[in-house]
Formats: sequence, structure tokens, C-alpha cells
Amino acid sequence: MNLTNFRFETDSDGIATATWDMPGRSMNVITPELMGELDQIIDKVAGDEAIKGCVITSGKESFSGGADLTMLQGLRDLFVKLAKEKGEQVAMQSFFDESRKLSLLYRKLETCGKPFAAAIHGICLGGAFELSLACQYRVVSDDASTRVGLPEIKVGLFPGAGGTQRVSRLMQTGDALQMMFKGEQIKALPARNTGLVHAVVPRDQLVANAKEWLKANPQAKAPWDDPKFKLPSNKLYSPAGMQIWPPANAIYRRETNDNYPAARAILSAVYEGLQLPIDLALKVESRYFAKILRTKEAASMIRSLFVSMQELNKGARRPADVPPSRLKKVGVVGAGFMGAGIAYVTAQAGLEVVLVDRDQEAADKGKAYSHKLVSDQIMKGRAKTADRDALLGRINATADYAALKGCDLVVEAVFEDPKVKAEVIAKVEAAIGPKAIFGSNTSTLPITGLAEHSGRPKNFIGIHFFSPVEKMLLVEIIMAKKTGKKALAMALDFVRAIKKTPIVVNDTRGFYANRCVGNYIREGHLMLMEGVPPAMIEQAGKQAGMPVGPLSLNDEVAVDLAYKVLKATKAQLGEGAVDRAQEKLLAEMVETHGRLGRKNKKGFYDYPEAGPKRLWPGLADLVATHLDPESVDMQELKHRLLVTQALEAARTYEEGVVTDPREADVGSIIGFGFAPYSGGTLSYIDNMGAAAFVKLCEALAKKHGERFKPNKQLKRMAKMGESYYGTAKKAA
Ligand code: NAD
Repeated sequence: MNLTNFRFETDSDGIATATWDMPGRSMNVITPELMGELDQIIDKVAGDEAIKGCVITSGKESFSGGADLTMLQGLRDLFVKLAKEKGEQVAMQSFFDESRKLSLLYRKLETCGKPFAAAIHGICLGGAFELSLACQYRVVSDDASTRVGLPEIKVGLFPGAGGTQRVSRLMQTGDALQMMFKGEQIKALPARNTGLVHAVVPRDQLVANAKEWLKANPQAKAPWDDPKFKLPSNKLYSPAGMQIWPPANAIYRRETNDNYPAARAILSAVYEGLQLPIDLALKVESRYFAKILRTKEAASMIRSLFVSMQELNKGARRPADVPPSRLKKVGVVGAGFMGAGIAYVTAQAGLEVVLVDRDQEAADKGKAYSHKLVSDQIMKGRAKTADRDALLGRINATADYAALKGCDLVVEAVFEDPKVKAEVIAKVEAAIGPKAIFGSNTSTLPITGLAEHSGRPKNFIGIHFFSPVEKMLLVEIIMAKKTGKKALAMALDFVRAIKKTPIVVNDTRGFYANRCVGNYIREGHLMLMEGVPPAMIEQAGKQAGMPVGPLSLNDEVAVDLAYKVLKATKAQLGEGAVDRAQEKLLAEMVETHGRLGRKNKKGFYDYPEAGPKRLWPGLADLVATHLDPESVDMQELKHRLLVTQALEAARTYEEGVVTDPREADVGSIIGFGFAPYSGGTLSYIDNMGAAAFVKLCEALAKKHGERFKPNKQLKRMAKMGESYYGTAKKAA
């Protein structure tokens, strides 16, 4: 055999071990070369009489994260090329054959006549978990890091290497569907309890356990290859089976709003596959897989959530000529809501933190937040007491600015007040060295203005986190007029160290993310004032693919904050810059009714002590007109809610705030949950086509006002048939 990605050895009992350990990679992935080697291993095991069975395990810290998605991107490109050269039919056939290679390979492994066992520690996801499902035995380590699952849906795909068929033959159908719709990662014990794996043992006993099983079961077959095999939820057309499908359809709609073709394909592949013998069922799955691979949703999601995200994480925007910074000590000034979170993620990354507030009590309170977060992790079994002690040991909470001496970077998260910020900038710069970088977490104050208070504007940059800091993946890095490349490099190195994803934007009011999401909230407010029933507004947001409706979202970020931002915009840019209807609504909500949002349990919703939140009935009295729900066009509401965000993204791109479509897209999905199936704000426009988008904007502008008027660049793109990605490529 000619192997570079596996080590292969056979012990004196005739049990082989294939250790998957790809050179030069921290994580094993499935690539065409890997598939070729696995094929050789299967032939060797099947053909060598001395070998009784084979364990597949990993030589890395984890089993594997699954397939290399760029391989699938390559397949799509091949299709386009073939379709052009040889016609659609030849391209389709070749696409189908290529896209089912992995599925056939796994089936070959499963039926080669010798048993295979997967010994799994750490992450085992997607195509890698599908490999283990084709093994007759799966044993996983009891380690907290061990997870199995099929997360393909998260990038617009579905498990196309046997996953839909094998999982639905191992688990109750409802559970299998749920697991694949959600793309859940399942820990060791629940995986065993639901029948996905056979055993859970300590890590050091994994391979021995798998070998014992192979020795005891030399004739093992997959359960579905036994003629007496019965489906866990019984036959489809049985009373029990019929209990499953009507609710399954409802769950599908509830979870996806029919926005994800891949989720619909899961439902169809399982429904059809369970009525067929396994080989035919796998073929049905392959047909759906080939179809899904060609959808624009899969293409856009793979591009934004896999390829672009990886590129941004690896420093696509980092100035290459600045050597990597060796960040050791980071200051955080302001230990409130945001500062406490920033201190936590920084200490979590192993960096020393100096957490400064006005007095010791406030600083300690900020540090206590870290104590609470790690304690929650300990309760969930994800951390140990020693981890908490070590993490807290890295946070020095103090009221003394002098403690900031020696910091490589200081992030400021004090009150959103230019005077307070100016004072803090002066105090921090008096304490830190001349090369240290100063980052401001302001959400509304232009960084260039703040940098005027700095003696070293080259070292001054915006580092904008989203709340809650420990959960939100996005960080916006804002370049002020005079920000230098060393500051940018340091900020990006910091974001990478704390394992978040950065986008780099130029300075403007609201930067990028808040401008787009602010429009989403405003559109909800305006719909309300037009007399659209609030429940329909909220539903339209969710059906459009947003994580929550605009009114709900406003409650989360605070209604008074929206009012404050509106007033500040009016003060700076004049009457014309704000919408009168929105101003009236916010003034009544905040000033007349004291409805500030979730924080005081009174916002667009009521938040009763017991039971779920409910829309506040008083909203009806704030509105002069009440539209008949039957007269409201739901599709138009959905368009308004997405178009207003995408259009704002287009404006930021034209203004040079966002300079790379990848950042606009990735930032929109991970920053404010913009309909992930679209691939992000600019992909949404590209997928619709600039001409169609401009037409839609113009129709909405005619009916609802100037705010929908398309910007110049978009109109030009529509005329010239350009796209953001096409144009960006041309420019590169
Ligand atoms: P907060 O009121 O919870 O915390 C501010 C902290 O700063 C308080 O602990 C206060 O004691 C401290 N502080 C005030 N003056 C100080 C001084 N002179 N020296 C040291 N500490 C001082 O506010 P927050 O919500 O954490 O917001 C902080 C910053 O983060 C603001 O600029 C805000 O715009 C920005 N931001 C907030 C959010 C959010 O969702 N809350 C999101 C992104 C960015």
C-alpha cells in the first residue's frame, strides 16, 4: 500500500489498525487522496487472509471534522465547466458519479466481508462520522471533548455519504430528523443512549476495546444487511410510522421556514429511503445530495461560512509585512457589561488581563463575571475547578491605572460618553509604553474623533465586540483616519488569540453591523406604525430567516438605546436623518410608558415571571391604523425586512466602509444572524442578481419611501450585469 495519511499495522491476533494522521495538518479531513488511501486499506483488509478486522482511529487530538468543503466547491466548478463544454446531461451524470464516490466507498467498506471498528476520541463530525457509521462497531472516549454529529445543514448541505440512511436506521425517525435538522453535536453518553455508538470507554482503552470487539465478532455485518432487520420506528406505512411524518413536516417548517433546501432534502431522503433496501436508499440519498450541492444556498453558505470565514480567521486582512505580535498582557478599562466579557474571553485565551474600573468594587464585580461563567462551565462538566483558579489568577482587577504598565494592548469599554472616553485615553496613555495599542469598544462614537484625544493616533483603533461577548463570534475592527498597520496587525492577532472572527471596516457612524441591523429594527417599527399586526411583523422576520423578529431584537438591545441613538443622529445630522414615525413610537414607548425592553421586563413584549414573553397588548393603542391581517402581503414584509439590511450593506460597500464582500457576508451572518441560507447581505443581492434587486428596491421605494432607493453603485452594477463577487474578483 502507498499510504501517507494513515499508518497501518496488524497485530499478532490478525487485527489491523489504520491510524488516520494527515501530515502537516492539525485536524484530519477527507480529501480525494484520503479516499484513495482508504480504498487501498479496504482492499488490503478484505483480501489479506491473515487480517480478521480493522480498527480505524486517529493519531491526532481529534478524530476528524469531516470533508474538506473546498473539494465540494471544486465539484461545482467542474459541473459548470462540463456543462459548457459537453452539455447539461453529461455534466449532470458526471456530477452525480463524482458526488457519490464517498458514499460508495463507505458502502464498500461496510460490505467488504471483514468487520471494521471506529475508535473515536474528540470531534468526529460530518463525513468522518459517516465513515464511522459504515463501521460495524463504534466506540468513543468518555472525554468531555468527544462529540459526534452531522452538522452539514449548517453550511447548507446534508449528509450525503450514507448519513441520512444509517442514522435513521439506528435511531427513532423523529430523533434522527431532529439531529440532522439541527446539526447537533452529541456527547459520548447521549450518543450511546440513542444508539448512535455502541460503547463509551476511557481514552486509553479505545483501541483495545475496538480490537476485542473485532476478535469476538469476525462475521459482523451492519444491522441493515441482516434480512431480519427492523426499522427502529417500524415501517413507514404502519400506524406507528404514520404518527411520525405529519409532525415531522411541522417540525421541518418550524425549524427552517422552508428556507433551507438541504433540510427539505433530509426529510425526503429519509422518507423515501426508509421504504427501500439500503443500497437503493443510498442511491436516493446521492440523488438529493447532487441536487443540493448545486443549489445557490449550499454554494453561498459554503463560501461564507466555511471558505471566507477560514480566510478571515487566518488573517486575510492582516498586513503581511508586520511580524506576528507576541501578545502577553492585555488591559481592559471599564469592567461593566462589555468589559467583564472582554476580560473573560481574553483570560480564557491564556493571556494576562488587567481589568480597570473607577473603584476596586466595580473592578471586582467585573472579575466576578468570569467566576460565574467558569462556574457554569464546571457545573456542565466542561471545566475543572483548577481551570477556574488558573483563569481567575490571570485577571488582575484594580482601580490603579499604573497596573496597565507593560500591556501590549488596552481595550476601553467605559461609558459611551466622549468626555469620559477622552479622560480614560489620557490616563491609559500615561501608563502604557509608547508601542502599546489602544482599542476602543465604542458602538456609536466615530473612532477618528476619539483618536483626536490620543497622543499616538497611529496606535489607536476600534475593536468593537458584540454582546454577549463570550457567545458572539464577530469582532469589528475599525480603522480611523490615522490608524497604522501595526495597530491593525495587533488587533487582528488579538482577535485570533481569543478565537473570534474579525472584519476590518473603515470609520463611519454605526460602522457596518449596527447600520444594517439598525435598519432591520427600524423597518419593524415602521410596519407597526403602519398598522401591521405586531405578531405578523415578528413572524415575517423569522420566516425571512432572521433568528428573531425585529421587535424582539429591539427588546434585547434595549428600546431606550434605540431612542438614544435616534436622538444623537438627529442632533448631528438634522431632522431629515431620522424617521418621524419611528421617533414618535420610541418616544411613546420610552418616555410615556417606560418600556425599555427585556432589561426592565417591559418592552414590545411583556416578560411575566412565569411563562413565556408575550407581545404587549398596549401596542395597539400606540397606533392610529389597524390593518386587516388578510390585506397584509407577507412576502412583501419579508422582502422589506431583508432588503433594508442588504441595501444598507450595499451602501457601506459603496462608501468604502466595508471593502471586501466576504467581510460583509460573514459579518452579517455571525454578527446579527442575517438569513444564513442567503450567504449574507451581499450574497443575497448577488443571488437575486443586481438588476432584480434594484427593481425590487425601486418598487419598495415607490410604495414605502425613499429609504429603499437603490444606491448609485448598485444601479450601475444592474446595468452592467455585475456582481459583488464577480466585481471583487476582477478588481483583485
Ligand atoms: P456599562 O455601563 O455596563 O460599563 C461601563 C463601565 O465603565 C462601568 O463599569 C463603569 O464603572 C466604567 N467606567 C466609567 N468611567 C470609567 C473610568 N473613568 N475609568 C474606568 N472605568 C470607568 O457599559 P457597557 O454596556 O459595558 O458599554 C461599554 C462600552 O461598550 C460603550 O462604549 C458601549 O458603546 C460599548 N458597547 C456596548 C455594547 C452593549 O451591547 N452594551 C455592545 C458593543 C459595544
